[in-house]
Amino acid sequence: MTTDIIIIGGGAGGLLSAVYLKKQNPKLNIRILEALPRVGKKLAVTGNGRCNITNKNINLNRYHGNNVLFAEYALNKYDISYTADFFESIGVPFVYEGDKVFPASLQAGSVVDCLRFAAEEGGVIIHTDTKVTNIQILKNQYRVWADKISFVCDTVIVATGLYSGGYKCGSDGSMFELLKKAGFKTVNTTPAIVQLKTENDITKQLKGIKVDANVTLKTGEKVIREDFGEVLFCDYGLSGPPVMQLSREVPRNKNSMSLSLDIMPQISLNDLKAQIKTRAINLSQRPLEEFFTGMLQKRIGQVILKQCGCKLSDKAEVLNNNLIDRISKMIKSFDFKVLDTTGFVNSQVTAGGISTDEFSNSTMMSKKYNRFYAVGEILDIDGDCGGFNLQWAWSSAFCACDNILRNK
Ligand SMILES: Cc1cc2nc3c(=O)[nH]c(=O)nc-3n(C[C@H](O)[C@H](O)[C@H](O)COP(=O)(O)OP(=O)(O)OC[C@H]3O[C@@H](n4cnc5c(N)ncnc54)[C@H](O)[C@@H]3O)c2cc1C
Repeated sequence: MTTDIIIIGGGAGGLLSAVYLKKQNPKLNIRILEALPRVGKKLAVTGNGRCNITNKNINLNRYHGNNVLFAEYALNKYDISYTADFFESIGVPFVYEGDKVFPASLQAGSVVDCLRFAAEEGGVIIHTDTKVTNIQILKNQYRVWADKISFVCDTVIVATGLYSGGYKCGSDGSMFELLKKAGFKTVNTTPAIVQLKTENDITKQLKGIKVDANVTLKTGEKVIREDFGEVLFCDYGLSGPPVMQLSREVPRNKNSMSLSLDIMPQISLNDLKAQIKTRAINLSQRPLEEFFTGMLQKRIGQVILKQCGCKLSDKAEVLNNNLIDRISKMIKSFDFKVLDTTGFVNSQVTAGGISTDEFSNSTMMSKKYNRFYAVGEILDIDGDCGGFNLQWAWSSAFCACDNILRNK
């Protein structure tokens, strides 16, 4: 079977590429080869099923990779308004929640549907259950193998993602391994935007409780990165947006990392000490079990008091300066030893990938192989939580497609 363009992977970058190319040049013969029985399985679960499709504040400092500057050209040229125009044209207007951007339907599945409808209406041929297992270089063309069948084409776009989301999302890293074997330089892959396993005797006691906190990731006393938001206590450790945001650094620094939660960030340590002192006087006859009721999440207050050596059946009158000092410090710095992430299967994105040294940043084309492109997560670029990763998939795909169109 001969075709103009083979797109490997019917996920975010692959589907957008197919639709965009067909819209610009309906004569192109395009096939998507997708390993799973359906396209867009990962896209359909993004943003807790709502698809955080991009962010109003796309900015290079929200991206990571060995050479993050690689992403600058595509992100600037194919920005949120370019992306919004494209999605509007296929029936997906955007709505805004703060900086986060969603499809107006608030349904990730509907984004997949609209991309799929537009692809089918344009005449893109989609082969599902077609996992690419090899790519052969012919004279001026490529032969793409999916087990025993093969497709000859002029242009290949690799849009297969990496490991995040696990097998149910088609994320087995098979194309990454294939390109690595073929000699493409790679950058070590690790899970990012993922929950963290911590020493869990306390998190287990607080399982299911959420608290707004300033979260600091540290090695020893050295601060690696901070974030603010809702933290969730789990039986294995900690979750929630700020924890996920900081998680990227964990596999890179496994030595003695800790997460420190400031669960009253709006007040200084000294003011907090004074507040607890006054409270201990005002509520001197109240059992410690209820001492923090009204001031802190009740269970968290009880756990902190116990950690500081208090008996919950005692009355608040037992709180001396020394105890108040320890309790206040723990509220401002509730520390958890980090053991690991919960792994690729639970992660939203993979850090690392095919080295960007292998590709041109203004075309996404391989420097070694003519008309061989890679877009999205498979490249060594990953973004923060908040729509940054999908925007990278969209921007890099637009960038590759425009170069293909220029050269057709
Ligand atoms: C649970 C979850 C929630 C997320 N939420 C958000 C969010 O709200 N906002 C955001 O910006 N990002 C989010 N992300 C990240 C975002 O989904 C990815 O960064 C993005 O989908 C990457 O796009 P891609 O085109 O590179 O790859 P993918 O969308 O992963 O698509 C790759 C496709 O290639 C197929 N494939 C793989 N190997 C082969 C092969 N050998 N042959 C043929 N096909 C193959 C796969 O089956 C898959 O369909 C989330 C991720 C997860 C896991």
